[in-house]
Formats: sequence, C-alpha cells, structure tokens
Amino acid sequence: MKARWWVSNSDGTISCSLCFRGCRIRSGSFGKCGVRFNDGVGMVAPWLGRFCAVAVDPIEKKPLLYWRPGSFIYSLGSLGCTMDCPFCQNHHIAFPSKDLYDARLPTLAPSQLVRDIKEAGLSSVAFTYNEPTLQAEFICEAAPLIHDAGCAVVLVTNAAMSRTAAGDLLSCLNTTDAANIDVKAFNPDTYRKLGGDLDTVRANVEAFIAAGVHVELTSLIVPGLNDSAEEFASMVDWIASMSDAIPLHVTRYFPARSYHEPPTNINLMRSLAAIASSKLRRVHLGNIPH
Ligand code: SF4
Repeated sequence: MKARWWVSNSDGTISCSLCFRGCRIRSGSFGKCGVRFNDGVGMVAPWLGRFCAVAVDPIEKKPLLYWRPGSFIYSLGSLGCTMDCPFCQNHHIAFPSKDLYDARLPTLAPSQLVRDIKEAGLSSVAFTYNEPTLQAEFICEAAPLIHDAGCAVVLVTNAAMSRTAAGDLLSCLNTTDAANIDVKAFNPDTYRKLGGDLDTVRANVEAFIAAGVHVELTSLIVPGLNDSAEEFASMVDWIASMSDAIPLHVTRYFPARSYHEPPTNINLMRSLAAIASSKLRRVHLGNIPH
C-alpha cells in the first residue's frame, strides 16, 4: 500500500503533510513519528497495514459510552505516534524498540480485516492503542469495505493529523462511525511541550463533529501539566460552544514512560468534573475507583 500525503523536493528531501508537523525528511531518515521513511526514491511506510496489537474490547474501553453501548469491538494497534507525550501509557508501541520495529508481521489486506471482524461475530473495528493517523491510507481503503459489510469504524486519536489528511479521512467515514479524541491540554505552550498543536486539534475536533461522526472527548488530567481549573474551564466552554451533548471523559493519569508524578488527586478530578457538569450534560470520570 502506497504512502500518501507527501511530495519530493528538489534537494532529495520529502515533505510529509500527514500530520501537523509537516516533517521535511532527508534521504535515509524517518519522520518524527518513526514510521514514515524517505528511502531515497519516495516516502515509504513499512508499517502500513501491519498491526502488532489485535484484541476484542468492550466499547466502553475506548472510551465510548454513547455509541453502541454494551457492544464489543475488534481493535487494532500498530506502531508510531504523531505526538510525544512523556506519560504515554502505550509507549512500547507508540515509541517502539528496534526489536518490535523489525518484527516480521504480515500485512493485513482490508478485505481480510472485514472477514476477521465478521468471523469474530462483531460489527465494528477500532484503530486504537497507537495513533491511527499513521494508518490513514489503510483506513481510507478499508472503510468502504467495512461499511459495505454493515460494520462501522472507530478511531481513537489525538487529532493531530493535518487539515488535508483530516478532510480525506473524514471523506472515508460516515455518520455510522465514531471517534474518541484526546484533548491533551487547552494551552498552546503545553501542547507544544507534548509535541502537538492545540489549533490543529481544535480544528479537527470541530471537523469530525461537523462531519456527523459520533465524537466523545477525553481529557487526561496530568498533575503539573494541565490540571489548572481555569484552563480546564476554558476547554469546557469551547466544548459547550459546539454542543452541551458532547460526552467528556475526565480521566485520571497514572505514571508511565518518563513522567513520574503521582496519580492525579481524586478530589481534584471530582472538582474538575463538577466544572464540566455545569456546562455539559455527559461528563464521566475515568480510571478512578467507584
Ligand atoms: S506523519 Fe507527521 S511526524 Fe510522521 S513524517 Fe509525516 S509529518 Fe512527520
């Protein structure tokens, strides 16, 4: 499967426009995501259509609480990420070791994926665990087959894809599909620290909602990073300005990768959820004991 969203430059570099970063990649080098490569002839994406994590999950794990509740979903994860969060829970695949990168995994044909979903007795598939933008070509090819088979597509994404790629991806999705989008902060500087871009994420969230895809948002509250009530309230205002029916998952952080602050204080989680509930109708706490 050929990589899309890139052009060659006269100096032998390649400009990638799949995500907001717009990497200019020298011959023999990878882009920042670690899975898009300039082989001297063009852009190659050796992990396109290859999935190292395959599972059947409850839909609530994505998390999606207002889309096919109680169902199970075929779930696929691959390698790489378009951001660089120091607290990533899935860093072993988002920033893989060389061993995993070199693993000889077969390439999945979109038609085989449809058979796999059906054989599992399911009617939906999630591109999840790592950033699905990096499988955008595969998703665009598979989505029509998935829809024709009466199944639906779910993306669990950081929404850091470029506006062009987001538009192309959305043209392959329809109103039966869903996404959980991580809004990692509501401060441009914090987003930059995480290797992301707030304006891109805001625009893409709005585009997904405008396209009629069912969208639920996740806000992971990370101590010392995005836990100010003021910043959180600004995010809630933005969400409410789109619709007070958009579900918001306020989720507790646990230490991972290179971020070692203790888990988010549960009282803080509750007070932030109360702020959200004053403007939104569907607010849920995640990762805390009941
Ligand atoms: S997908 Fe993003 S990070 Fe990867 S090469 Fe393209 S622009 Fe760079």
